[in-house]
Amino acid sequence: MTTTVAVFGSCNMDLVAYVETAPKQGETVPGREFHTVPGGKGANQAIAAAKAGAAVRMIGAVGEDPFGTQIRETLQKSTVDVSGLRVVPRRSGTAHIVVDAEGGNSIVVVPGANATVDGLVEGDEDLIAGARSLLLQLEIPFSGVAAAAAAGRRNGVRVVLTPAPAVPLSADILSNVDLLVPNEHEAAILAGDADPRRALAALLQLVPEVVITLGARGSLYGNRDGARVEVPSFPVDAVDTTAAGDTFVGVLSTALGEGAEVPEALRLASAGAAVSVQRNGASSSMPTRQEIIDFVA
Ligand code: ADP
Repeated sequence: MTTTVAVFGSCNMDLVAYVETAPKQGETVPGREFHTVPGGKGANQAIAAAKAGAAVRMIGAVGEDPFGTQIRETLQKSTVDVSGLRVVPRRSGTAHIVVDAEGGNSIVVVPGANATVDGLVEGDEDLIAGARSLLLQLEIPFSGVAAAAAAGRRNGVRVVLTPAPAVPLSADILSNVDLLVPNEHEAAILAGDADPRRALAALLQLVPEVVITLGARGSLYGNRDGARVEVPSFPVDAVDTTAAGDTFVGVLSTALGEGAEVPEALRLASAGAAVSVQRNGASSSMPTRQEIIDFVA
């Protein structure tokens, strides 16, 4: 049974320059290569879920510029419904990324059109109401995240929040979140505790279900009924972990929406992320449903 996922969040064009050593203040350095890649946590999660087999609706905004057109076309190529993707008289969101020879990076994000996604517009509620899961992140204004979370709750949709970038969250968002999926850094900041198990317990005071992703160490699930599930990651040679978390969330919500039990959904999400980290890129590295099935077989 196909499940429907709505994503209310950011779309960016990632502008990536590869250098030997990142420039210091006032310095100019030569770059080796340059890539433009559609990204943003919202668009990345939408593409991950669509590739994993969900029917996905993306709600957000791009600018009236060629980046906006490219972002829309990339989503459509992955079968994402873009009827909720508005075009606004701004530049599209951009992430200016410098990657050095060691793989370290520094990033400037200019929200652009994403800054206009500060609430629901006509049609958004219907797109959310028709979904089984709603995926949220924090790259759009809080008022937009809060309005979408409330719409999800009103319509009985499972509300899944990736709290990235990590910033303190207000009760009006958290009160409508069903499942929180931080990585361990985000979990430590939100819970004020660097120990993942203790952070999990603290976050369960705020929302009913939590998954903390632990990079190559796997993931940790808990709910308020006291259930705990620890899932190891698949041992693979990682070459690029960009968007591992977004792949994980996209696959997890697809599997849960299709009725998988939590341990199985976590296993599939880990498999999806493990496939993605073995390839370069963000959305381009995300596995198809068949690739996930083949990987766990
Ligand atoms: P984020 O990308 O948000 O920082 P993580 O780094 O925690 O998230 O990764 C999310 C998930 O991706 C992990 O729980 C794990 O399943 C998988 N993953 C990440 N890094 C690796 C790796 N090096 N090898 C295998 N799986 C990985």
